[in-house]
Amino acid sequence: MQVLTRVLRDNVKEFGEYPFLYDGDTVFSNVDGLVQAERIRDLLVATGVQPGDRILVSMPNRAEVFFVYQGAMMAGAVVVPVMYLLGRPEIAHILQDAEPVGIFTDRSSLDKVLGAVQDAGVAPRIWSADPSDRVSCLWDNVEVPQAVRPDPGEEDLAVILYTSGTTGSPKGVMLTHKNLYANAQQVIASSPDRDRGVTLGVLPLAHIFGFTVTTVTAMLGGSIVIFRKFDVVEVFEAIQRHRVRGFSAVPAMLYAMVNSPEANRYDLSSLETVSSGSAPCPVPLIEAFQAKFHADVLEGYGLSEAAPVVSGHRRDMPIKPGTVGVLVAGVEARIVDMDGRDLPSGEVGELWVRGDNVSPGYFRRPEASREALDGDGWLHTGDMARMDEDGYLTIVDRKKDVIIRGGFNIYPRDVEDVLVQHPSVAEAAVVGVPSERLGEEAVAFVTAKPGTVIDENEVLSYVGQILAHYKVPKALKVVEALPRNAVGKVLKRTLKEWASP
Ligand code: AMP
Repeated sequence: MQVLTRVLRDNVKEFGEYPFLYDGDTVFSNVDGLVQAERIRDLLVATGVQPGDRILVSMPNRAEVFFVYQGAMMAGAVVVPVMYLLGRPEIAHILQDAEPVGIFTDRSSLDKVLGAVQDAGVAPRIWSADPSDRVSCLWDNVEVPQAVRPDPGEEDLAVILYTSGTTGSPKGVMLTHKNLYANAQQVIASSPDRDRGVTLGVLPLAHIFGFTVTTVTAMLGGSIVIFRKFDVVEVFEAIQRHRVRGFSAVPAMLYAMVNSPEANRYDLSSLETVSSGSAPCPVPLIEAFQAKFHADVLEGYGLSEAAPVVSGHRRDMPIKPGTVGVLVAGVEARIVDMDGRDLPSGEVGELWVRGDNVSPGYFRRPEASREALDGDGWLHTGDMARMDEDGYLTIVDRKKDVIIRGGFNIYPRDVEDVLVQHPSVAEAAVVGVPSERLGEEAVAFVTAKPGTVIDENEVLSYVGQILAHYKVPKALKVVEALPRNAVGKVLKRTLKEWASP
């Protein structure tokens, strides 16, 4: 049975007790994790939680997040992870949509959560991971009888993830136990050199990428150091202390590591690979990372709807920077034109994927589900991609970010890739803005490399020397930092607002 509720149990059976989770100065063994998860299961069952009920979790990374996920699933509930950085209205929207019967939060989010509960007009039970005089504390020593709950079925929902969504209000991606179990197994089958070492949990556990990292770690009998937020010095310290060989990150974290003057103070020689995903990793960044840390950047690609990993680089195959590697074992893909016809290798079209990892749809949104998933089980990813003859995928851009200027397509990523090659540009993002004459036009936002000053016209003429004239942005704006979400994805919707006068 491919159910997540067996992962920790199997781990304990197979590997015996060992240090599993490092959270600040506290170390939890795998057995501690199981005990805590079972306690939370009992607590939820005693409160009347029924299989299929939703439990919302809004906390920064801390050990309790993992225990609550496991315990809620053992009670048959569906976990709704919420990025703790979300604002009160966003949480209220999720509360109204998911109608959870219980919420787990902590000191950092309690006010916001209580406000959102009020705004949404719902009345769930609330527990905090820190002592609180307003709600029950997760660690309160209350007697609850041990509950017996059968494992959920493979097709039962394990998680509902609200995607950031670049348009409209966020939708809940439903993922079954089988989706998540299968994807962790697909990742393991595609990374032949992974072992039981210590890895880093720098990604938010509320994001599908971070969620799957913990599942894979537990399946492999590994250990994980979790971080409340990404702090480059803490990361270096942990790599040195635990002789970390590999971990998963997003490009913004690799950028911070490359640019940190602290790196030289640590022995980082154990590091062999970093898996990067969630957003495109510019080739100059991959090269700079490899040069500085002598470690390979294995870029992969995924999306919440695929639980999440679709493709990645493997250590037993050549690395092709700029591509997102090859499909993970057990995932099929097609590249199709606007009419759903297969395109030959090398041509750009929409990427469709199919496999046990693919979501059954969006929570309570049959229409959106029908749009994204066809009757044959293909997920229409909304990403434009091409595949070369060796099976390496390149993500060209998101379908909805393509800019159509006077009838010509501009893929923002093409322009961004050129901008970051300019010696004074650190990061770049390109968005479309409405134009009366051309329909849409491109506007670029860039940040400057430390110690450099950007001459807008000079950078634009540099782009014009490399790319076709119509792809040159009509304007280039220098900003302090690009707006990003918690996993480092550039918020293009915000940039569009900045670009419009
Ligand atoms: P989410 O479901 O919110 O994690 O977002 C998934 C989306 O992130 C995908 O549909 C892609 O558009 C984008 N994405 C993920 N990984 C990559 C990558 N390596 N390169 C380019 N885009 C990526």
